[in-house]
Amino acid sequence: MNAPGRTKRRVGPPRRPARPPSADLHVHTTHSDGGCSPGEVVRAAANVGLTALAITDHDTLSAIAVARPEAARLGLELIPGVELTAARDGREVHILGHFVRDDDRGLVAATSALREARARRIVEMVDRLSALGLSVDLEALRRTFPRATLGRKHLADWLVSTGQVAGRREAFARFLGDDGPAHVEKPRLLWAEAITLIRAAGGVAGLAHPPYDLRSNTLREFVEAGLGSIEVDGPGIDARLGRRWRAWADELGLAPIAGTDFHAGDRPGRWVGAVTTPEADLALLRVKSGQWSVKAGENTSQPFTSRSDS
Ligand SMILES: [Zn+2]
Ligand SMILES: [Zn+2]
Repeated sequence: MNAPGRTKRRVGPPRRPARPPSADLHVHTTHSDGGCSPGEVVRAAANVGLTALAITDHDTLSAIAVARPEAARLGLELIPGVELTAARDGREVHILGHFVRDDDRGLVAATSALREARARRIVEMVDRLSALGLSVDLEALRRTFPRATLGRKHLADWLVSTGQVAGRREAFARFLGDDGPAHVEKPRLLWAEAITLIRAAGGVAGLAHPPYDLRSNTLREFVEAGLGSIEVDGPGIDARLGRRWRAWADELGLAPIAGTDFHAGDRPGRWVGAVTTPEADLALLRVKSGQWSVKAGENTSQPFTSRSDS
């Protein structure tokens, strides 16, 4: 937290006056399960007039360095981000990180360990399926989805397309469902660990697309663990719940954030920039990260000297 009574002002050149500032803070690329490459996402964001974009791939930071030169060329602020897969009480929760150092050793190591564990998981599930008399050509699946982290849906679709089951529903009911004989638990971080990793990498940890039944007490626990933001607007977020979460954010001092969770061009209403974070909310996120002025193309991997953890 910053010293009370001391107001910092943004330094550096003024923002481009021609475009009103707008930021999409939740976007995926081909480095996780998105359909557009990092360069394509950056160009798409610039095309729709965004001034800032956060790339937040699932459990990987590799797209940031790839996107950075293109963002600098187009004068778009690239906010380095990530979306970590975590678990709380057996349920999956996604923790966003914004303004992280994308070369942070702890965060990079944790994300690559997660991806490796997930690659082992798919092999194990294929082995179990074959013990049950079913066959999956894992190499062919990998060729079809070269960037994706393969999971149960890919396996189910394979079984359907090769006529071994009638449909996805049967694949899950008989083999791949949570209690199915071929299911292996998905490796996930503990939710508090995910928050800690993001903060240690200089970032602000945020709760992505909160569950509809989120309770204020639960959110309080997240905040106690270091949560700094919460998604309150996005294609999957009910407007009434979004307003409730925004009120909780105000109460708990969280930055309310918004984004499209953009994956590919074929989801209506989810094109990059269809949902943006208002400037005042982004400013609060910046304050929380210790970043007051991040210019396009600036190297964000220097230590945040203005930040002090409490
Ligand atoms: Zn998510
Ligand atoms: Zn996402």
